[in-house]
Amino acid sequence: MSIKGMLIVISGPSGSGKGTVVNELRKNEMYALSVSMTTRLPRLNEKDSVDYFFRTKEEFLKIREADGFLEHAEFVGNMYGTPKSYVEEKINEGKAVILEIDVIGALQVKKIFNECILIFLIPPTKEILRERLIGRNTEDAIVIERRLKKAEDEITQIDNYDYLIINDKVLNAVNQISCIVSAERLKPKNCKLKVKEFIGGE
Ligand code: 5GP
Repeated sequence: MSIKGMLIVISGPSGSGKGTVVNELRKNEMYALSVSMTTRLPRLNEKDSVDYFFRTKEEFLKIREADGFLEHAEFVGNMYGTPKSYVEEKINEGKAVILEIDVIGALQVKKIFNECILIFLIPPTKEILRERLIGRNTEDAIVIERRLKKAEDEITQIDNYDYLIINDKVLNAVNQISCIVSAERLKPKNCKLKVKEFIGGE
């Protein structure tokens, strides 16, 4: 049976554990994770084309001019964008495509794909967020402070999201997102293809 693809946007402060949650989700092949492009330098454990497409600012701007991004935004001094073609291809294959992007990008996507699901993930407390940012040891103190400030700004946008998940335990967050996606797939408007096949229509 054909399944209609969908777009799931997951946002949350850096350090909210989005990456870990998304890595768990994508073990299920119904999901496809969009790999973003960024002008940020890779962290020690990050690989090009896996974690991001790491590009220079010039390369990034060229793709932006050619309308190659579904959305793009600047975040704490670096540029990030979602390459359009992969998302379109995977949605056509019926996948639930996950975009792990910031609030500005999420709102751009909502304007284009009104049916996308916006999920916001936060850690239980700001202190835990700070500890996670310090603990991962990838940014200096100034960048950590900028990211914490950015987190406060982003949290004020929660009302624009469809769901809020407190990421206390990774598996709880993963289960909650799976429930949201399952419920969404059962909405009649998302089952039209199945219904058509059932009644033998075109
Ligand atoms: P980081 O530098 O920690 O990997 O990411 C910084 C922020 O940029 C995070 O909130 C992350 O979700 C967001 N981000 C990553 N890729 C994209 C993208 O393609 N577009 C937008 N708008 N934000 C992104």
